[in-house]
Amino acid sequence: MSVEKDLETVEWDVGEEGHITVDNSECVDCEEKPCLHLCPAQCFDYQEEQEGGIYFSYEHCIECGSCMVFCANDPDRGAVSWTKPDGGKGVEYDLG
Ligand code: SF4
Ligand code: SF4
Repeated sequence: MSVEKDLETVEWDVGEEGHITVDNSECVDCEEKPCLHLCPAQCFDYQEEQEGGIYFSYEHCIECGSCMVFCANDPDRGAVSWTKPDGGKGVEYDLG
């Protein structure tokens, strides 16, 4: 099953506050913009009118942590910041 098909099976209970924020000023000099290709939930979108060209929506984030690697912890990027999700809990996986 593809990631896209898997995501169709997810139930979403979206918090009012985003647990991830993006400092778009850091995106201005990020030429490769790996977020557009590596986020499995496609939370990052290229929109020319946005500062740095990035529009971020947290609602379908599956908390995979990839953006910690390709952005937050990358010394050349660092636009992404995480906080604890609303209600103190995040994604619950049903592996059955
Ligand atoms: S990888 Fe990070 S710094 Fe680069 S465009 Fe995406 S959010 Fe911005
Ligand atoms: S944690 Fe994963 S799904 Fe969520 S925004 Fe980051 S890369 Fe995308």
